[in-house]
Amino acid sequence: MHGTVRAARDPVTDGLPPVPFRQFVVKVNSRCNLACRYCYMYFAADPGWRHQPVTASSRTLRHTARRIGEHATAHGLPAVSLVLHGGEPLLSGPAVLGAFADAVRARVPPGCAVHVTLQTNGVLLTEETLTTLAAHGITVGLSLDGGLARHNGQRVDHAGRPAWPAVERAARLLATGPHRASYAGVLGVIDPATDPAEVYESLLRLAPPAIDFLLPHGNWSRPPPGLPAGPGRPTPYGDWLCAVFDLWWHADRRRTRIRLFQECLALLLGLPAATESLGLQPFTAVVVETDGGVEQVDSLKTAYPGAAATGLDVFRHSFDDALAHPGVTARHTGLAALADTCRSCPLVQVCGGGHYAHRYRDGHGFRNPSVYCADLQRLIRHITAALRRAAGP
Ligand code: SF4
Repeated sequence: MHGTVRAARDPVTDGLPPVPFRQFVVKVNSRCNLACRYCYMYFAADPGWRHQPVTASSRTLRHTARRIGEHATAHGLPAVSLVLHGGEPLLSGPAVLGAFADAVRARVPPGCAVHVTLQTNGVLLTEETLTTLAAHGITVGLSLDGGLARHNGQRVDHAGRPAWPAVERAARLLATGPHRASYAGVLGVIDPATDPAEVYESLLRLAPPAIDFLLPHGNWSRPPPGLPAGPGRPTPYGDWLCAVFDLWWHADRRRTRIRLFQECLALLLGLPAATESLGLQPFTAVVVETDGGVEQVDSLKTAYPGAAATGLDVFRHSFDDALAHPGVTARHTGLAALADTCRSCPLVQVCGGGHYAHRYRDGHGFRNPSVYCADLQRLIRHITAALRRAAGP
């Protein structure tokens, strides 16, 4: 099926201008009330968060709103996505978040929609908080690893106490209360030691409109949990995802969106897809830290200290300045940025070399296949076969 995919455009070889940012991830608070044991923010190679202010000041938020408006105006963007992130963004309080969302909306040109999502661990989510967020048009994404206490054993507070009771309460508030329209979905990191059917079905019971399954961050020098690097290795993450795909594909695909699967299907059908994990489309997200620093996405911090830094900030630089940063342009150059192995891979139009952070190897940089190459091949071939069967003879 991948043979039918349209040739991806390559901004380098096609001489196209840089692709503007469309997603702005703003760290409103650099600390977290949890200490999840796998968290790349606090336990990865980059300890930069220790030097960040705890909260983004009103000056930082004001300049960030101004820069987003400037970028949307300069590029005539019809819509932008604003993700309120942390640490735990609710530590800054819902009124601050609402005022910031309003400030961004006031700065973009008429006709530009601003979709605002708060990504939270859920512990501080209350009925009152949800009312305030809804009044400012902010939807809520929950981070959790399954719908049962035993799936969330790694999600603990600083004293080692489980976050699950509070998170479950938050999920119920979103799923069943008057704030259902605010429920953006759930986002979880895959643990291949769990039973995929049990995790998936327990998440469905929380009635999320969308589920985002993430591969744990790792690379060739620091392999993901339980993953020996090298040829002929098993594919525990690919197997796990294939099992969930089968359940979703046969029973639930009209009920709940699973972004990874939908993007894979779209790419197989030759449609544009916007995901950090698959495809050759330019990556269009940028991060603003609590000190106003402009950074590339956090996941790069798992490679080496400072990997996400650009040296830019919202006080002195526009987001167009960030578009010219070599780390950003590398993610806008499609095939040209990939390793030779990927460039000659029959799955490359769908896989795209996998998540950028997962390609890193000490001393070699990012021009390598994904450390999840075998798992991605397993998943893409599995979804291809399902699509072929659905298409019939
Ligand atoms: S990471 Fe592996 S599956 Fe993906 S394009 Fe590269 S070689 Fe192909």
